[in-house]
Amino acid sequence: MIGRGGINLEFMTGWLREDNSARLEELYKLADEVRQRHVGDAVHLRGLVEISNYCVRQCGYCGLRFENRRISRYRMSADEILACAREAVAYGYGTLVLQSGEDYGITRDWLADIVRRVKTETPLAVTLSLGERPFEDLEAWSRAGADRYLLRFETSDPALYELIHPALPGRASDRFAILRSLRALGYEVGSGVMIGIPGQSYASLARDLLWFRELDLDMIGVGPYLPHPATPLGDGSLAPGTAGGEQVPNTEEMTYKVLALARLVCPEANIPSTTALATLNLESGRELGLQRGANVVMPNLTPAAYRINYEIYPAKACIKETASACHACMHWRIEGLGREVGKGQGPRPHGETGVD
Ligand code: SAM
Ligand code: SF4
Repeated sequence: MIGRGGINLEFMTGWLREDNSARLEELYKLADEVRQRHVGDAVHLRGLVEISNYCVRQCGYCGLRFENRRISRYRMSADEILACAREAVAYGYGTLVLQSGEDYGITRDWLADIVRRVKTETPLAVTLSLGERPFEDLEAWSRAGADRYLLRFETSDPALYELIHPALPGRASDRFAILRSLRALGYEVGSGVMIGIPGQSYASLARDLLWFRELDLDMIGVGPYLPHPATPLGDGSLAPGTAGGEQVPNTEEMTYKVLALARLVCPEANIPSTTALATLNLESGRELGLQRGANVVMPNLTPAAYRINYEIYPAKACIKETASACHACMHWRIEGLGREVGKGQGPRPHGETGVD
């Protein structure tokens, strides 16, 4: 059995480079056992609402970047968001995830009011994923009752990060500092990375995984990088290099390895089987993710008319499904695995006992 202490850089790079399928099956089996022992068999459902696709940022990888003029922009109204919250309750979800581009049309007070209403009118936990907002915004939303915040650090390689995620003029982009602030504010903290982003080496992805443990994350989101033609990384105008043979591939197999290793470094974390993974394997990607470390899925509640414009990457899985189809599909998949659908908000890794 691998102890957490034995998990170091060498261990990580060794597994990331492993291509023997029998050995990989051992890794996946171990991750599944660790998942079962620490977070059980329940699969928790988080209802995702993509509340706005406006974004001030110029991320080299994402279709929502400010300069992409080919998508039509939307911001949902407070009433529409609350209708989604009620739908989440009707479907039995324990959590509402509000995600958007970094959109300052979403003002501090407007969002605080929505969070307060969801928290008083429903039993839902509220997760926010709204980008690098100022401390005062994060504080106000925490006071309004928001429980969790998701902010992927994307890569722990500072030079690569700067290249693919340019800072706004006069404002450094330090996602690690924001993650520490979120923890200090009492949020459950989620982060993660994309897998196979151009310029990502095996050593840097291995370091990312060790950062998950260092940050003691409550939630970990990992998924393959999927090129979008309307972005500098997707159209090839930005092509960060790595030394020969060092580039991590953005494949399905690599995603499973990272999911499994994330479960080993953070046994109690909530880890979703992501839509990006399902995009690579529509038929069974979600299930395989759940069998190789994940314990969460995020059915999409965004109204269909908006959802098609939340195109982070092309051919996104389930982009045309209604909330009700998505709900039925997730139940069917979870039950097909012999797992149960989680009830309520789900476990809190840094809960009452504070044990890790
Ligand atoms: N704007 C917020 C932020 O950046 O944290 C939240 C929304 S953003 C669309 C959510 C995540 O999508 C990012 O953290 C990034 O990892 C992922 N993402 C963006 N473009 C992607 C791509 N081309 N392939 C895979 N994942 C992508
Ligand atoms: Fe905006 Fe987030 Fe996309 Fe970057 S990843 S362009 S911050 S939505």
